Amino acid sequence: MTPPTAGSRLPGPVAIIGGGIGGLTAALSLQHFGVPVRVFEQARALREIGAGVTITPNAMSALDFLGIGSALAEQAGETPRYFVRSAADGRELERGPDPDSFVPEFGASYRNLHRADLHVTLTEAVTKNDPDAIALDHRFEHLEQDGDQVVAHFSNRASFAAPALIGADGGASAVRNAVFGGQDASYTGHVALRALVPITRVPSAIIADPYALYVGAGRSLIHYPLRHGTTMNLLGNAQASQWQAEGWSIPATVAEFLGLFDDFPEPVRELIAAIPGPDLFKWGLRDREPLPVWTSGRVTMLGDAAHPMTPYLGQGACMAIEDGMVLGRAFAASQDLAEAFSRYEAARRDRANGVQLAARFQGTQHHGSTASGPNSGKTAVTLGLFSYNPVSEPI
Ligand SMILES: Cc1cc2nc3c(=O)[nH]c(=O)nc-3n(C[C@H](O)[C@H](O)[C@H](O)COP(=O)(O)OP(=O)(O)OC[C@H]3O[C@@H](n4cnc5c(N)ncnc54)[C@H](O)[C@@H]3O)c2cc1C
Repeated sequence: MTPPTAGSRLPGPVAIIGGGIGGLTAALSLQHFGVPVRVFEQARALREIGAGVTITPNAMSALDFLGIGSALAEQAGETPRYFVRSAADGRELERGPDPDSFVPEFGASYRNLHRADLHVTLTEAVTKNDPDAIALDHRFEHLEQDGDQVVAHFSNRASFAAPALIGADGGASAVRNAVFGGQDASYTGHVALRALVPITRVPSAIIADPYALYVGAGRSLIHYPLRHGTTMNLLGNAQASQWQAEGWSIPATVAEFLGLFDDFPEPVRELIAAIPGPDLFKWGLRDREPLPVWTSGRVTMLGDAAHPMTPYLGQGACMAIEDGMVLGRAFAASQDLAEAFSRYEAARRDRANGVQLAARFQGTQHHGSTASGPNSGKTAVTLGLFSYNPVSEPI
């Protein structure tokens, strides 16, 4: 007999605000445990930015459990070994583990994915379970809740009453503002630039050493291949005193990127020079203090809405996936909503808030490098982050 769950006792679908990586993983996990969901996404069409995302074993174990790991592996291809290098002279500071060791050691693989591939695969899995699960063109504005229900209101004048609501609406979360009040994220003084370069344009020295993180004074740059090595993903971080614009897709120029990294090794400069002009974007990195509480009554949060983080450990999406997986398990293990949210938050808050702070510290380590003393700091591997398994961690 199927055990009773909080989900099976709730009238009507759980509302998830935001159809990004975290919201869709939560939807898939809740569906897996028999809880119907309705995802409300502000965009008119589901899409992702053109960029890579590293999904490490701690998050891949959830995607494997939810049935999409092998599809993602087919899209990604092999993961090369990574190297941390000095930006001054390219010398090796540290090397990552043998990629073949991840499955034996952590029970899951490490994949470098195109964000669109991850997003499409999650979307297809959720809508295969329920063709009506995702509602587009619904921009969440505010909510009210009482002992019986929470009602979400959208800018298209629609509203939706649900027994529970999950804020998965990213770093500028309107759900978080509605429940916990607005507290703007502060600019970190770091700007990030990202690009995809077709492999035919990539210098041979980079193809021979495809997965590398360069650390130097005030800057770091990482590149790794996507889609069976047909595209090189490139992400640079540098200090910049001022930043006004919001968003992840502000156009940048090759000259601007080169100007910031003009003393990095020659193959890196050649790679930057090879970026097709329209495919280069920048954004200002923002950070906020960890929230001591994520839940209020019938509302909780996950992913960047709960714990936005700087990209220096490559774990923002992985934490959102872990959150989504654990949320479904918490519903399955609980008799009512209060118990489910309490189990979820207790299992997740210290882990995700801790990674948020570790990512901030890692940024200061990279950027504290000098020409004479590069500092690779700690990586997600040396911090032991891959040992967490959201499918089997006690909740
Ligand atoms: C270029 C780049 C590279 C990165 N690389 C990595 C990496 O390698 N590894 C890693 O783990 N992390 C990485 N990250 C971080 C990671 O992408 C984020 O942490 C992750 O996307 C968070 O997922 P999320 O679902 O919480 O939020 P988001 O991905 O921001 O999704 C939020 C969704 O909510 C929707 N939304 C927002 N407001 C509303 C509203 N009011 N109403 C309805 N819908 C709304 C948005 O349209 C969006 O679809 C990277 C980030 C960037 C920008």
